[in-house]
This record gives sequence, C-alpha cells and structure tokens, in this order.
Amino acid sequence: MDKTLHIIGGGMAGSEAAWQAANMGVQVVLHEMRPKVETFAHRTGNFGEMVCSNSFRSDDHEQNAVGLLHWEMLQADGLIIKTAHAHRLPAGGALAVDRDPYAQAVTDALNAHPNIRTSFEEITELPDEGHWIIATGPLTSADLGAAIARETGRDALAFFDAIAPIVYAESIDMGQAWKQSRYDKGETEEERTAYINCPMTRDQYEAFIDALLAADKTEFHEGETAGYFDGCLPICNCVVITHLEHCTISSDFKQK
Ligand SMILES: Cc1cc2nc3c(=O)[nH]c(=O)nc-3n(C[C@H](O)[C@H](O)[C@H](O)COP(=O)(O)OP(=O)(O)OC[C@H]3O[C@@H](n4cnc5c(N)ncnc54)[C@H](O)[C@@H]3O)c2cc1C
Repeated sequence: MDKTLHIIGGGMAGSEAAWQAANMGVQVVLHEMRPKVETFAHRTGNFGEMVCSNSFRSDDHEQNAVGLLHWEMLQADGLIIKTAHAHRLPAGGALAVDRDPYAQAVTDALNAHPNIRTSFEEITELPDEGHWIIATGPLTSADLGAAIARETGRDALAFFDAIAPIVYAESIDMGQAWKQSRYDKGETEEERTAYINCPMTRDQYEAFIDALLAADKTEFHEGETAGYFDGCLPICNCVVITHLEHCTISSDFKQK
C-alpha cells in the first residue's frame, strides 16, 4: 500500500499536520487550492495564513490554559507556534503576530522540507483510497463540503464565525485615549503600551451601542450562518472599569 500521507488544506491545521508527519519520516503531499481557487477571507497563497485576528490569545503558560497549550505545542516543535513566536508583535501577555512574514516563514519551512511535496489544486471529492487528512477548515470549498455532507448524512455544515471589528488608528482621539496593556502585562515599555484604551462615560457607551445597532448591517456570504462566537463580538471586547460608569474598548493589536 502507498505509505504517502495526503493532506487537504494548507491552513494552520494542515500545515502543522504536514510538518509533524514529515518530521517523523512520512512522505507528505499537501494539497492546497489557493491561490488558484480563492476563499472570501484568505488574502494570499501562503500556507498557515491567519484569517481575521492576528492574535493567538494569551501566551502565559503559568496562568492561562491557552498559554499552556502554546507551551505544549512548542515542546512538540510545533511549526505554527514557533513561527508565531519568531514574528510576534508587542501585545502585553498575548501572542500577536505580524501576519504576512509569519505566513511566509511557514510557507518557506514547508517548501524546504525534504519530505513534503505541495500540490496546488482543489480536491472536490472524498478520496476512497490511501491515507488522507482533511483539514479544509471553515471555508471548505463547496464541492468538497457537499461530498462531506453526503458522506456524513448531514444536509448542512456550519461554523461559529467571529465579527471582531478593526478600528482605524487615525479615527481615535489620542487626547482622550491612552496606551496601556491589558492587566498591566508586559516586560518592555512597548509591550506595556500595546493597546489603545478608549474611555467612555456610561452615556457615551450607551450612545455608542445605539449607533452600532442602527448602523448598516453586513450581508451574509454564501454558506454563512448566524452562529457567532460570543468571545469575539465587539461589545464583549468592552471592559467595564468602574461600576459601569466608564468602560474602555481596546483596538486591534499593533501592526507593523
Ligand atoms: C471570516 C473568518 C474569520 C475568522 N476569525 C477568526 C479569529 O479571529 N480567530 C480565530 O482563532 N479564528 C478565526 N477564524 C477561524 C479560522 O479560520 C481558524 O482559526 C483557522 O484558520 C482554522 O485553521 P484551519 O487550518 O482549520 O483552516 P484554514 O486556515 O481556513 O485552512 C484551510 C485551508 O484549506 C484550503 N481548502 C479548502 N477547501 C479545499 C479543497 N477542496 N481543496 C484544497 N484546499 C482546500 C483553504 O484554501 C485553506 O487554505 C475565522 C474564520 C473566518 C472564515
């Protein structure tokens, strides 16, 4: 039997799987449809591209379960996590990443691996022989999605999306806002000032919510459902600091 491992999808999951298997001596073929076939969210043809937020959340392996997972992935020589660390941006205790050089470095590492071959094509059917990992993520192409639905007997597949906002730095009045990391974390001055905090009074905050609710709504993309991940909703990014009298909204992490 052919011992080659085929992986469909060169996102974070597929890239990591390829790296780990190849390091164990397995011959890997990584099948990725980008850049020939685009998704609505990816911007490049790079492997491991981060979609949306550039944060891997907390990197504190002593106090936070996510940070502990980062630590475990580092111990396992994880390609994604060690490349993220190599391209981190100041963000207090969070692991925020300079996304383009990070994805380029993941791509370079996979291309340079002697046990990994890449194949740029869309896989449209579930393979019926050989060893395969399907790592096509939330934006699995329509044909493959339909094949998975047929195989599993499901008439629909869904994922929980996030709608974290991006705030343009020029739109912030730095006469009112200030720079400080969340929970005062960070070893360096750059890290301790990695977030922009925008204070609001209660009235301002309520006016903000009213304006937000009255604003233009985005249209759903094909295949999107209304299941959103609460942890990434804009309003949940508010931190109430004095008994609801004031609250702060942190903008996206610093980008180079
Ligand atoms: C709009 C949006 C916003 C998101 N925001 C966040 C966020 O802020 N934070 C967060 O943690 N997660 C977010 N996610 C989830 C994010 O996609 C995952 O965290 C992460 O990218 C999942 O990695 P993955 O490898 O499973 O999938 P992906 O990174 O999507 O990789 C899957 C790969 O498979 C390829 N592929 C798909 N179908 C085929 C096919 N038939 N043949 C060949 N290749 C194929 C795709 O091109 C892609 O490169 C978001 C997702 C979307 C769509």
